[in-house]
Amino acid sequence: MEASTSDGRRELERHLEDQMRAQERQLVWVRLGMVLVAALLLVVFAQRTSALPVLLILLGVVAVSTLAIPLLLMKFPAREVGIVSTALDMAAVTVAVYVSGTAIDAYLFYGLVILGTALRFGLAASVWSSVVMSGMYVAVTLATTALDDPARQLLPARVAYLIGAGVVAGLFSRIVIGRATDNARLLQRLDEDERDRERARERELLSRLGRDFGTSLDREATTRTIASGAAPLLGDATLLYLVDDASGRLAPVGHAGNQEGLAERWRAHADLRRPRIGEGVAGGSAATVAAVEGGREAAAGDPDGIAALDLAWVMAVPIVAGGRLLGVLATAGGVGTVATDRLRRMAEAVAERAGPALQNSQLWSDLQERMSREQAAQRIKDDFLSIVSHELRTPLTSIQGYSQLLEGRLRADRDGESKEMAHLRVIRSQVGRMRRLVDDLLDVSRIDRLGAVSIETTDFDLAEEVRGAVARISREHRDRDIEVDAPESLGVHADRDRLDQVLSNLLENAVKYSPDGGPITVTAEGRRGEVEVRVADTGLGIPAEHRENVFERFYQADGEAGRRRFGGLGLGLYISRAIIDAHGGRIWSAPNVEAGRGSIFGFRIPRVAMPLTSAGIAPTGEPPPFVVRRRDDG
Ligand code: ADP
Repeated sequence: MEASTSDGRRELERHLEDQMRAQERQLVWVRLGMVLVAALLLVVFAQRTSALPVLLILLGVVAVSTLAIPLLLMKFPAREVGIVSTALDMAAVTVAVYVSGTAIDAYLFYGLVILGTALRFGLAASVWSSVVMSGMYVAVTLATTALDDPARQLLPARVAYLIGAGVVAGLFSRIVIGRATDNARLLQRLDEDERDRERARERELLSRLGRDFGTSLDREATTRTIASGAAPLLGDATLLYLVDDASGRLAPVGHAGNQEGLAERWRAHADLRRPRIGEGVAGGSAATVAAVEGGREAAAGDPDGIAALDLAWVMAVPIVAGGRLLGVLATAGGVGTVATDRLRRMAEAVAERAGPALQNSQLWSDLQERMSREQAAQRIKDDFLSIVSHELRTPLTSIQGYSQLLEGRLRADRDGESKEMAHLRVIRSQVGRMRRLVDDLLDVSRIDRLGAVSIETTDFDLAEEVRGAVARISREHRDRDIEVDAPESLGVHADRDRLDQVLSNLLENAVKYSPDGGPITVTAEGRRGEVEVRVADTGLGIPAEHRENVFERFYQADGEAGRRRFGGLGLGLYISRAIIDAHGGRIWSAPNVEAGRGSIFGFRIPRVAMPLTSAGIAPTGEPPPFVVRRRDDG
């Protein structure tokens, strides 16, 4: 489409030029005819004038110069030849009037000059040429004639004649050259159309580039897209540099071009030189943050490869985003090509679109780097936690075992309560506490590593499990009043040990956070496909703003003060929630409205647990190396 438009325009130009040449050649014949007629008139009617020989010589000169016109036309454009011959004609007429005042009577001659001007250059030019000729005629007449010379009286009439001839010839030329003007207008319109189309094409290409540049966040993919997207719009080869902040140099990261070999060689050259900011064309544009262009003379060291690659020109525009210089987009052309304004405009537009894309990809790669660093640090921490917990567990188990053994012996020896036995019980209970803490830490490290706890489901009676847990806690806290409201049986398919862990945690919390010793009620019930267990106390309660947070890891509602008063790590509810989540259930807390104080903690799970298996599976696809432990306190 575009090619045919410019072809059409060239054809039109050729056509117009041909037309003007043909006209110039016709004028040669007219002029020769006029010279002949003028010579005849001179010889027949003006024999008396003394200037006859000079006038005839002048006519001869005009005739010879006229004959030269076809030769000139072969070398020069018709328009230039026309200007030269018009000037010659005017000079000839002026000389003629100078040597013989009556030469003005050779009207034909004047008419010829004016008509020639009109045909070549149009109405305005013919009027102007008649004015200039009148001026010359008046000047020559005043200079060469006496005051009473009749030629002076004729001046007004002759000036009027000349200007009138200019107007008439001009009007006449309008008809003759009307077609040429139409053609010129057509040409102009075609030109404009082509420019419009070109601009629309550029806009569309650029907007597509803008879209393409942002499609990936990956840095390499982005630099590749920028180089290959920009290349078709720019010179023979295109190179994308990124600024290396550490060294203050430009590193080539992408290349493309319609001459692939050239782009590759250019990149290799740039890779070796790595222009410093301020050095050469690319470095210069980075330093000035403006478009820079360089020609055949290479800078010292030839950082742009102008001499080395025999490039005619290199143009570079900076890529800036967020007020920061990110890189340079450079384009180059081989011998015989030139850097145009359009190329500069395109390079600038491409760079403008490349800036945000590069910035995003850089931010993304920085973020990924930081994330993987943090992940590595986290892994080390997790591993550490897991190893330490394991290592602590072994001595604790053996302390627990031996203290149990000792207690048994003491009981057998003494038959009755003794001070040593009381001490041993304290040791055992403290070791038991420590083991629970270590177990919690191990659970947390597992949740961290695997993303969830995994569960092993069996069929069992949850009502029985609830009663068992309450009995155990009651044994440990003989002074507490714990009531159970549960049906005879409540069959579920779930992880028994894990639910027992949740029940123990809720019950222990209820005891711990009701230091005044208020009653505790445990309710278990089945509704449709679900079972719900609630533990209600009349203790301290939880301020509304902390209610959701208590399920977070290491969270304690009273902060440091609470930790000092009640101990604990703030992990029990976090692990409980993970266990209930793994059953496909929900855990919650609410104020104990009925009692007017204290809180209720409850969970609800499907009767047949629906473990969120995928969450419990390690990313490698292997089943998690997780052994469900039994919580035994001795
Ligand atoms: P820990 O009890 O070891 O601190 P938990 O995760 O079991 O950790 O509990 C987190 C926090 O939630 C506790 O520190 C406490 O502030 C609050 N909390 C838990 N249960 C109760 C309860 N029954 N009454 C009042 N506050 C509670």
